[in-house]
Amino acid sequence: MDTDTIYMQQALYEAKKAFEEGEIPIGAVVVYNGKIIGRGHNRTEALQDATAHAEIISITAAENYLKNWRLNGAKLYVTTEPCIMCAGAILLSRIDEVIFATEEPKFGGVVSRTHVFDIEGLNHKVKYRKGPLGDEAARLLREFFLKKRVKQ
Ligand SMILES: [Zn+2]
Repeated sequence: MDTDTIYMQQALYEAKKAFEEGEIPIGAVVVYNGKIIGRGHNRTEALQDATAHAEIISITAAENYLKNWRLNGAKLYVTTEPCIMCAGAILLSRIDEVIFATEEPKFGGVVSRTHVFDIEGLNHKVKYRKGPLGDEAARLLREFFLKKRVKQ
């Protein structure tokens, strides 16, 4: 299995945890020198915090691990395209590259609604691309929203 798939599977594993906790199922891992140094899933409901997204939680964990807010050389794997807030946080934490599994048409800040990483004249450039397991990530989101609709 290629490394992209291995890390995206870990992000998907985090997304499934969110699903089980009744949170929007999005998961993320931060990889540095071939090692996962931060992981997280959405915890917006549990923490009643609009900023408790998978990316923010995994970035904070990685920064704590390295005792450094600069994550140059790190990659972030996330099951869904980062929102505008998370794209901003990724930029500020100086992550090298973002790999996301599926696009997010409503709030996506990378390719869908706006293109935060393509803003001209910034002092840091974040590479980004679509990675593997997009169908799995999208299916999990669909299932979640379907279940929620049935409940209400
Ligand atoms: Zn976000």
